Amino acid sequence: MIDFDSLAQLHPEIAKLETLGFSVEGRIILAMKISDNVEIDEPEPEVRIVGLHHGNEWISAEIPILLAHYLLDNYGSDPEVTYLVNNREIWIIPMFNPDGRVHDTRYNANGIDLNRDYGYMWEGEGGSSMPYSQPETKAMYLFSQKHQFVLSLSFHSYGEIVNYIWNYSPVEPPESVIIEEYSYGYANFNGYEVTEGYDWYETRGDLNDYSMGIDSDIDWTIELAEEFVPPASQIDTIWLENKDAILYIIKKAGQGVGGIIKDSATGNCITNAHIIIEPYNNWVHFSNPNDGSFFISLLPGDYTLKIKADGYAERNISFTVYEDSLTWLGDIYLTRIQTLTPKINGYKFVWCNTDPYDCMNTYTLSPFALGEPDGHFLSIATSTYWGSMINYTGEVVIKLSKKIPTNNSMLVVYEGDDGHPNEKFKVYISDTLFNSWHFLGNGEGTDSFYLNGVPYDSILYVRIVNDYSLNNNSYPYGGYDLDAISVIIGAANIKEKYKISSPSVSFKIKAPSIIKDKTLRFSIISPSDIATEIKIYSLQG
Ligand SMILES: [Zn+2]
Repeated sequence: MIDFDSLAQLHPEIAKLETLGFSVEGRIILAMKISDNVEIDEPEPEVRIVGLHHGNEWISAEIPILLAHYLLDNYGSDPEVTYLVNNREIWIIPMFNPDGRVHDTRYNANGIDLNRDYGYMWEGEGGSSMPYSQPETKAMYLFSQKHQFVLSLSFHSYGEIVNYIWNYSPVEPPESVIIEEYSYGYANFNGYEVTEGYDWYETRGDLNDYSMGIDSDIDWTIELAEEFVPPASQIDTIWLENKDAILYIIKKAGQGVGGIIKDSATGNCITNAHIIIEPYNNWVHFSNPNDGSFFISLLPGDYTLKIKADGYAERNISFTVYEDSLTWLGDIYLTRIQTLTPKINGYKFVWCNTDPYDCMNTYTLSPFALGEPDGHFLSIATSTYWGSMINYTGEVVIKLSKKIPTNNSMLVVYEGDDGHPNEKFKVYISDTLFNSWHFLGNGEGTDSFYLNGVPYDSILYVRIVNDYSLNNNSYPYGGYDLDAISVIIGAANIKEKYKISSPSVSFKIKAPSIIKDKTLRFSIISPSDIATEIKIYSLQG
């Protein structure tokens, strides 16, 4: 059989190789894209297939490679393969841990379990000191942020198991009816056992939880075979047992709804929208970072979707999904809202390491801390510890919906109400990831921070760390309760900051410091569900 590189060269019209990144020892990690018009990023549902997180699970690389062969060899002759290649963007990464493969070990060359190093409910279980601590997992994170995968598979060995999320928690995942339907759908082809990950055994910081928790991509762990390294003679049998199941998942990535979100005035794509599906209101989906398209896999039925993007009026659209077909909504235009002081909110997690009390928390969900303040919040304490991580207190890193100039801007952190007001946190900012953090200050309750004078011209990332020693960390709302993060652009000219802790407060404002062109500009920062009355008196007529 020819190798992976040559395979792409043989089918240049539908296959191309990309360098996902490099391992600790400098080995290349390859990703193959298979699609029609392969050089173009088309608005088609994206699927990610990964093998060999664990270097000693060799069969987990063989199946993705055989999938690539099957798709490329049968394109144009097999109608199903032709349809899938034409209507999906399939990314195959067969050997994610090449150092582990060479040394025949589960771990990478730093001795880290890569499938415990991702940033959703990470807890250092695989030996790492922070999420995405390894070049391999950093590369997977950055690669996944350039795409918007709908459904994904991560192969391992062994056990003949279809493992669905969550792996960190026994709590039902969002959209669980879809996840369970597809899990049993996969197993129907080969008799594999279906299990929720946590039910089988708890893991922290794995790729599946990352994919759903951060990217809203439903990702499975498929445990192949009956032993870690089955004899080579069994490879074909294992492939044939899984072939139709894999094609089924690729097909289901395009059962649901799709569209392209655009600005009604300019026609430009909006690449930072939230899409919320009724009846799954507690979860949020994202538009594609390149072209503003979105695809959400759904079971047949009637739905309403809500599209929200910072600076635009919200839109609701009702639609129906049919078996094995995509309901295409076409171009969806959002209308810009004009305002003097635009507000940019938290868009997406980079990492979210919050785990109040034994993963049993069903009251607060990570998406509650994204978007506008709305009264829903994420409690960010963590209370279980692995290894040496005894000082780990719970923290999140959130990417804003766009890069914000710091000059004259103000960051506001909104606290949710869990009955313990004015809990404490530390806030850091950065303009680039995996670089350094600038400590902005200690915060309490709903608090604001001016960004003038920070060492960045613009920022994109905000990190909130629970102040474990000062807060109420008990179940179910342990730690600081984060409702939202917003940056108000042009909060400008504001020289005074008043913290209101009593029901009413009055204060004098020195006019020259805030009056500009005879306009008095001020902002009130308060949790959204608290009514605020403002009376303004002029002391000099
Ligand atoms: Zn494994």
